[in-house]
Amino acid sequence: SAKETGKSKCSFFEQYMEENGKSKLALLSDIKKGLINNEFTIYYQPQVNLKSGSLNGFEALVRWNHPIKGTIAPDTFIPLAEESGLINKLGQFILNQACKDASSWPKHLKVSVNVSALQFTKNTLVEDIFNALKSSNLASEQLEIELTESVMINNYEYVVKVLNNLRERGVKVALDDFGTGYSSLSYLQEIPLDKLKIDRSFVEKLNVVDNTQATAIVKSIISLAQALNFETTIEGIESANQIAIFKGMGSTYGQGYYYSKPIDSASTISLINNWNNKL
Ligand code: C2E
Ligand code: MG
Ligand code: MG
Ligand code: MG
Repeated sequence: SAKETGKSKCSFFEQYMEENGKSKLALLSDIKKGLINNEFTIYYQPQVNLKSGSLNGFEALVRWNHPIKGTIAPDTFIPLAEESGLINKLGQFILNQACKDASSWPKHLKVSVNVSALQFTKNTLVEDIFNALKSSNLASEQLEIELTESVMINNYEYVVKVLNNLRERGVKVALDDFGTGYSSLSYLQEIPLDKLKIDRSFVEKLNVVDNTQATAIVKSIISLAQALNFETTIEGIESANQIAIFKGMGSTYGQGYYYSKPIDSASTISLINNWNNKL
């Protein structure tokens, strides 16, 4: 559940709090201040079509440019932002900024935005998303949202309604970190989806072709996805060897440090312009 995920990531912000001699409440007020002072920024990581090697788009990943600590990774503050409800405000900023940044890319490139389970409990989510598209002039076909299985736990029917609404307008939906959740596979029949993102934990183990267990799992996730008409993205590709393996298995897209670590918005432009030369 979302609570369990929060707990497993607790050590990150516990460490932050310890190092800074701060309580949870103080960290929360730092995040609020950070939002007002524009300390949050979005980095982008390329998502690549494995068959053609072409760039399909970027995943938007939030960073905190802390005045003292420098760049802070999302695992440190997202769980607390979720726990406190502040994720709604932060999430709205992320959506607006990501759509704005993506509007300067060529029209065939997409942006994938992570939407936290808690944002699905807010009844203005669809409106927020459409407003972000409208004010940035981004085509809805250029936007994809990434959600995790934890959204399915409480407000199942509402989530289905929201996703149908978004997909009717052309927004794509990807299920993130697939294979790490606790829910049964039966929801895959009910939830309107376009894509499964296969979790990095399986991919890590597949640096060598003869890891039979990880190979079997990834292969069967890909064939499950194909049977259900979903595309797949392999997360966490770190070597050319892995590209060959997953391409051979028929995965649609790949993403990982091998192609590029997440980069700032300004750097996306030169990466886009030099992409063909790079491959
Ligand atoms: P995620 O959505 O599964 O994002 C993928 C994470 O894996 C990113 O970490 C990315 O930098 C990292 N990664 C990508 N390729 C590789 C690789 O080849 N090797 C390794 N070791 N790692 C790789 P990041 O940016 O620290 O984000 C962590 C998590 O924080 C994300 O996981 C997502 O759950 C959450 N998050 C990030 N940005 C947002 C956001 O804007 N909104 C929400 N709600 N959550 C976010
Ligand atoms: Mg993601
Ligand atoms: Mg993921
Ligand atoms: Mg993740």
